[in-house]
Amino acid sequence: MRVHNFSAGPAVLPEEVLKEAQEELLSYQGKGLSVLEMSHRSTEFKQIMEDARSRMLKLMGLGDDYTALFLQGGASMQFYMIPLNFCAEDKKVNIIDTGAWSTKAIKEVKKLDKKLHIAATSEDKDFTYIPKEWTLSDNPAYLHITTNNTIRGTEWKIDPDVPQDVPLIADMSSNFLSKPLEFAKYDLIYGGAQKNIGPAGATFVVLKKSLLEKQNPGMVTMMDYNTHIKKDSAFNTPPCFSIYIIGKVLEWIEDNGGLVGMKKRNEEKAGYIYNILDNSDFYRGTVCSDNENCEKRCEF
Ligand SMILES: *Cc1c(COP(=O)(O)O)cnc(C)c1O
Repeated sequence: MRVHNFSAGPAVLPEEVLKEAQEELLSYQGKGLSVLEMSHRSTEFKQIMEDARSRMLKLMGLGDDYTALFLQGGASMQFYMIPLNFCAEDKKVNIIDTGAWSTKAIKEVKKLDKKLHIAATSEDKDFTYIPKEWTLSDNPAYLHITTNNTIRGTEWKIDPDVPQDVPLIADMSSNFLSKPLEFAKYDLIYGGAQKNIGPAGATFVVLKKSLLEKQNPGMVTMMDYNTHIKKDSAFNTPPCFSIYIIGKVLEWIEDNGGLVGMKKRNEEKAGYIYNILDNSDFYRGTVCSDNENCEKRCEF
């Protein structure tokens, strides 16, 4: 029997994926060992890695100007690694603060002693909405948003417009590949795999190659995106089994209608709960919506 698991992450994985992994556990493609045991330098694993990377970019409709990485350290390490790499001394990190996770991202920027500008915040109403407007600072290094606020429950309904020379960076940990987005608007997209595309242990980073022109010099080896790009995410031992499962989940997404299919599925699933909450005179959702008397709308 399988239980209902409402946890944001680690979250449920498709049963088909688990069964396939189970079948291959003792011997992957007749090799006599599992992906848990095989070398990350083996031909088999290199193929698994390449497969996962290319499926991911394909699902997002992105071409050769982007690259996808599988790192470790979680989305939490990206909070540090992004400003370290992409905020030059004379620039300011611009962040839209929408609660818990973006607040953590802000904390790391401060620890790095980088200049910081909060382009907008919804703190005035306890993070119950997504700001409709924001103001960039002078010399912005990039604009950082959190597309789904896992703890607060607010989600961006648009992919924001930024001036062409300002990179757009997004923490998509909890809604990555849940629906079609204009992924090409973003210069860097990251998240922990465990919420939406696989097991814990791997962190996905999708990066527009042109962003590397803005990279600071002198990065320590493991914090340098180039280290991982040059070695196809295998500079050191990557989280092999997680990446293998991610590849299978991505294939499952392809087989189940792609991102359009995921959107439909997710809306149906979310509807089971939100329709009850929204139509109840007993329960009240915490997110400000169009039918509530809220100055600032969450929906665009
Ligand atoms: C879970 C989550 C994180 C943290 O992810 P880790 O991989 O555990 O570091 C960051 N941002 C968002 C939006 C999350 O939902």
